[in-house]
Amino acid sequence: MGLRPNLLTRRTAGVATSTLALLLSTAAVGVVPAASAFSAAPAGVCAEPADAHADARVAKGGHAKLDPNHLTAKQVRDREADLAAAQRERANFRTGAVAPLATVTIPVVVHVIQENSTRAGGNIPDSLITQQISVLNQAYAGSTGGAATAFSFQLTKINRVTNASWYPIVQGSSAERSMKTSLREGGKNTLNMYLGELSDGLLGWATFPKRTLDKMDGVVVLNESLPGGSATNYNQGDTGTHEIGHWLNLYHTFQGGCSGSGDSVSDTPAEASPAYECPTGRDTCSTTGKDPITNFMDYTYDSCMYQFTAGQASRMLTAWNAYRAA
Ligand SMILES: [Zn+2]
Repeated sequence: MGLRPNLLTRRTAGVATSTLALLLSTAAVGVVPAASAFSAAPAGVCAEPADAHADARVAKGGHAKLDPNHLTAKQVRDREADLAAAQRERANFRTGAVAPLATVTIPVVVHVIQENSTRAGGNIPDSLITQQISVLNQAYAGSTGGAATAFSFQLTKINRVTNASWYPIVQGSSAERSMKTSLREGGKNTLNMYLGELSDGLLGWATFPKRTLDKMDGVVVLNESLPGGSATNYNQGDTGTHEIGHWLNLYHTFQGGCSGSGDSVSDTPAEASPAYECPTGRDTCSTTGKDPITNFMDYTYDSCMYQFTAGQASRMLTAWNAYRAA
């Protein structure tokens, strides 16, 4: 699978925790049947046969169907136009004022949503959260093998909330809105992470940046996807890495398929559809380059994904200065 040595070190360190045996014996996260994974995909979005990934990331199969970060072509055009407008707005505002930032430390507020005080009820230990922050810092520094980005992460608060009506966290629900409206902290530069069991077998979802602060802003991540968690193949913390990529304005590497501007990043080869597991050598588009299956913005196993590209790093910093910088 081509894991790099330093990645193996990181992964091994995560797996060596004394809690692993316990975690492996806990209940698995929700499983979505293969047949439902894609059959209800909206028009223009990931129109694949229902059984295309029957043996793939189906445990989290609701992801591609329901992932709010999987956009239509029109949504991408609108977002790109908005980014350009936000950049113009900032450029005018900045004339003679503060220069755009080149490095950014993001304060992180983690909300642990619990149904009760048990592990199955969402009570994950602080150690998983600190390991998650460490995984983020390695990923965004490029130390797992990709391009270095401008971003680092600083945990500022762990907020534990027991509220059975918010558990599991249901994507797009009034309960999700209520939860975020009640709990979100900080300005546009503050990353709010909500951890819990999730609806529909999802691993996570995120909001893209907007020009005005919205209480819904933040990322939602499956609690057991944190490093050392029980979500087999997705428990090395890269769901967090992936969702924060969206929060920083990245699309999926398979956005737009083989045609057009794809993910609006020039150095990620086009990809017809999401890659699952770790399909080394996969090449779904006739354009140059094999599929970027090791990119954090694909759907492969955590053990398979380890990099952002320089183009993604640049896109994230551009978006930060347009949307999230003070
Ligand atoms: Zn995504």
